[in-house]
Amino acid sequence: SSYVQIDGVGKVYPSPRGDVVALQDINLDIASGEFVSIVGPSGCGKSTLLKCLAGLEPISSGSAVVAGKHLAGPPDSLGMVFQRDVLLDWRTILDNVLLQAEFLRLRRSDLKGRAAQLLQRFGLGGYEERYPWELSGGMRQRASICRALLCDPELLLMDEPFGALDAMTRDDLNLELTRIWQGSAKTVLFITHSITEAVYLSDRVVMMSRGPGRIVDVIDIDLPRP
Ligand code: ADP
Ligand code: ADP
Repeated sequence: SSYVQIDGVGKVYPSPRGDVVALQDINLDIASGEFVSIVGPSGCGKSTLLKCLAGLEPISSGSAVVAGKHLAGPPDSLGMVFQRDVLLDWRTILDNVLLQAEFLRLRRSDLKGRAAQLLQRFGLGGYEERYPWELSGGMRQRASICRALLCDPELLLMDEPFGALDAMTRDDLNLELTRIWQGSAKTVLFITHSITEAVYLSDRVVMMSRGPGRIVDVIDIDLPRP
């Protein structure tokens, strides 16, 4: 069954120097539990598509349905990871992960155990009481992913989460991500510049192109998982 249904979606950013058409006639169905990557050149609308699905930007035309509901603001069960981590430097790593509970108005005390478990799973056991500025870029992004996963979101949106990291750290994170994602029912939409990364991680790769942002190809990946 489709978890995300995007039908003829267009997005126009109004601008005094002429409107910018960021997305044109996007059609994409994503099944529950599927891992889909989006690749394409800078400016082809990848971030815009994610922001629309996150309810951070309204769509201009067409229809977008997530979990059976037309989008009007953020979906009920959403986690999001950005290129630059969004950790607060004056909070410990554990408190940063628990921010997600505060965003969703859930009780922190109910989620402390899960936060610690996630940190452990992502190789950050023992770093609960450290501060973000004490961690490497890769560790900070892992903490950001823990935050996004804290409340067990059905939909995980990642906008080039490793874009700012060096190649070796990226490879490590991809391995971990694959292992963790395997067997979980999370539906994931993942933006990357790297086709290798996309092929390695995904069930399907969506290729976008500019002029203006549209889907030019969708490739099924049928590789054994590591
Ligand atoms: P990508 O993520 O693929 O780099 P974006 O979604 O960021 O692409 O951008 C798609 C197009 O929309 C680009 O032409 C970009 O300049 C434009 N754009 C993005 N955000 C805005 C905005 N807030 N206002 C106006 N134009 C925007
Ligand atoms: P950029 O495209 O400039 O690198 P990001 O992708 O990091 O920016 O963030 C995209 C937008 O989403 C920004 O305007 C930022 O303020 C906003 N944003 C960042 N983190 C969150 C969050 N956790 N929840 C909602 N919005 C966020």
